[in-house]
Amino acid sequence: LLAQANHEKRMLINQLLDLKGSIRVICRIRPLMSSDALTAATSSSSILEIPTPDTLILAPDRTERTLYDFDRVIGPSEGQEEVFNEARSLVDSVVEGYNVCMLFFGPTGSGKTYTMSGRPGDLGMAANALSHLFRVAKEVDSKQQVRLSASMLEIYNEQINDLLLAQNQQAPKLDIKESSAGVEVPGLTIKPMAGMQEAEAIMQRGKAARASSGPEGATRSHLVLTIYVTCTHRSTEASSTGKLHLVDLAGSERIAKGAASAERTKEAQAIHKSLTALGDVMQALQQKSSHVPFRNSKLTRLLEDSVGFNSRTMVVLTCSPAAEDAAETRSTLEFGLKARKTETLSRQGSTSPKRHFLKALRSTNE
Ligand code: ADP
Ligand code: MG
Repeated sequence: LLAQANHEKRMLINQLLDLKGSIRVICRIRPLMSSDALTAATSSSSILEIPTPDTLILAPDRTERTLYDFDRVIGPSEGQEEVFNEARSLVDSVVEGYNVCMLFFGPTGSGKTYTMSGRPGDLGMAANALSHLFRVAKEVDSKQQVRLSASMLEIYNEQINDLLLAQNQQAPKLDIKESSAGVEVPGLTIKPMAGMQEAEAIMQRGKAARASSGPEGATRSHLVLTIYVTCTHRSTEASSTGKLHLVDLAGSERIAKGAASAERTKEAQAIHKSLTALGDVMQALQQKSSHVPFRNSKLTRLLEDSVGFNSRTMVVLTCSPAAEDAAETRSTLEFGLKARKTETLSRQGSTSPKRHFLKALRSTNE
């Protein structure tokens, strides 16, 4: 009975998600850290304010205050659990057979990897999502068999590397294939997972295998962890598979021209090209444009069946509150706006309390 009730709850939530539109954008602000250079002028203060749980003000100096409006803004004192709460219903919809994509976007050092992968003893989104899925699998077990498996790849200089290859295995050249069944990477290792321990081991292995390794290198490629959820109804044997992509994107910062080696310049160009392609896809989806330019990068081709129509996307923007990072923070927030339908604040006759509040806040700032 409980399983049935939960099932119905999840169906309802799915309908609600459809009404809300398919791209959710949340923003996470990390705490100020001792590594953030604090000059006399900027010490002890953040350039970001969170007036309500879904608005953010960027105030880099005395003359400028820009107000942003997202689905949720997660402050520096909030933990991983709060971030997961924003994604819980999306993770549930994977069990219903939907494809879901979570994109972690921000410059190097803003908290993408921390938010997605956590730290020892401080689970990130990936582990929280996995343990939630294992819990749901147990809960529905009398009616449905739920099986989980995972793949891990990185896209580095527009090349796909399998991160779960066996040690002595020759790396095959991987490419993306689109078919009526969806997007696939033939030859990519997919590992079944029976429980959390196995899942953790797989994620550890994947992390260690990144080609662009080293403290700097890891931020120069996109890391894609994909969790496959196959549900088989015990009575009808009908089955569905949903995919959950978690994407730790390459650092969004621009590299100063001329300052970098040839190799770094090439990396930077590949990153810029793919993040631009991603932004264009988000914008086209948000505007319900008839042409969505998925084909401009490996990243967007890979995600084609997991963003937009009949799928759910969450963009997690990660930001530093430090004054010296103002320019990168601004461009991160602007990326988020591309993906999100913004409310028309000037519309007449609006009774939405939030809109009212935003309007009032804007006028006090003008
Ligand atoms: P990125 O992957 O975007 O380059 P990281 O996730 O590696 O950034 O974060 C940079 C540093 O900041 C790490 O030491 C990380 O542990 C810390 N950090 C990031 N976000 C938070 C947070 N919300 N709370 C505490 N520490 C954080
Ligand atoms: Mg990182």
